[in-house]
Amino acid sequence: MADARRVWVAGHKGMVGSAVTRCLEAQGESVLKVDRSVVDLRNQIAVEVWLKQNRPDAIVFAAAKVGGIYANDTYPADFIYDNLAIETNIIHSAHAAGVNRLVFLGSSCIYPKFAPQPITEDALLTGPLEPTNEWYAIAKIAGIKLCQAYRKQYGRSYISVMPCNLYGPNDNFDLQTSHVLPALIRKFHEAREAGRDEVVVWGTGTPLREFLHVDDLARGVVFCLDNYDGYEHINCGAGSEVTIRELAETVQRVVGFSGRLVFDTTKPDGTPRKLMDSSRLRDLGWTPQISLDEGIADAYRCFLAKENAERAPVLEPVG
Ligand code: GDP
Repeated sequence: MADARRVWVAGHKGMVGSAVTRCLEAQGESVLKVDRSVVDLRNQIAVEVWLKQNRPDAIVFAAAKVGGIYANDTYPADFIYDNLAIETNIIHSAHAAGVNRLVFLGSSCIYPKFAPQPITEDALLTGPLEPTNEWYAIAKIAGIKLCQAYRKQYGRSYISVMPCNLYGPNDNFDLQTSHVLPALIRKFHEAREAGRDEVVVWGTGTPLREFLHVDDLARGVVFCLDNYDGYEHINCGAGSEVTIRELAETVQRVVGFSGRLVFDTTKPDGTPRKLMDSSRLRDLGWTPQISLDEGIADAYRCFLAKENAERAPVLEPVG
């Protein structure tokens, strides 16, 4: 029997990386992991040495500095620098170490703010970006181009997958830095617990977003690892969209909060709409399996489990 494939999941502790790790391990694959305390991915030498020593058969590149609209808008230097550094280090070192297969993960924010909807892959670089997250988007576009450059010059099988807005287990629930869905889960939960009668939702509530459960994305990433080897990046989205108001009402129902929604229009809306056309990936055979209602219920269970774990007393060993 052939040796099992060894896949390095870069960013294995994050929401995407941990989901990809679960998916690969569930099918019996060997997943390499390295902690930030051992290899800082922004450190070129550290990445190069680790990759040469470990030489995985493939890399799933899920490491990134990520955040919601407020974090992106407030810490532009961190978002562009950290992501560019991580990308140049991993992609170049993968090539230098002779790793021939790599799946890079981006984001639907790479597309122009006013791209025709649903957005096809060829909309890339056809117009100006959404200003609140252009720093992150530019870094992610550079990641796609790095994969294409190493493919073009050296024949490397490096591909890029672009997910829509994601949510699920191991999400960031910090209100300042998170994305909208985990933020709303925390806001409604805390409002219900405190007996408050309103929850503040940022912006007008009218922007449309496409949400995919991270376990569906993970299946898409592993599917691409096995079945896609194209020069062009490929979209991976749920195929449907909701307004932020509709999302808030759904989260409200799942959490069981009976008060009012208040829209804070001093906060930015961001891009008005970013529904991707994922028909290329669907035509290859991937389809999402988790509905938004089921997915939000799952994300809320994960939030509660995390809250309970953080509140549990630390038991000291006796004796
Ligand atoms: P985006 O898709 O890059 O804009 O990222 P976000 O997930 O951070 O925001 C999506 C939309 O949700 C934006 O229109 C936000 O203004 C809106 N939104 C509403 N309430 C919140 C909130 O509490 N946190 C965040 N991050 N966004 C919110």
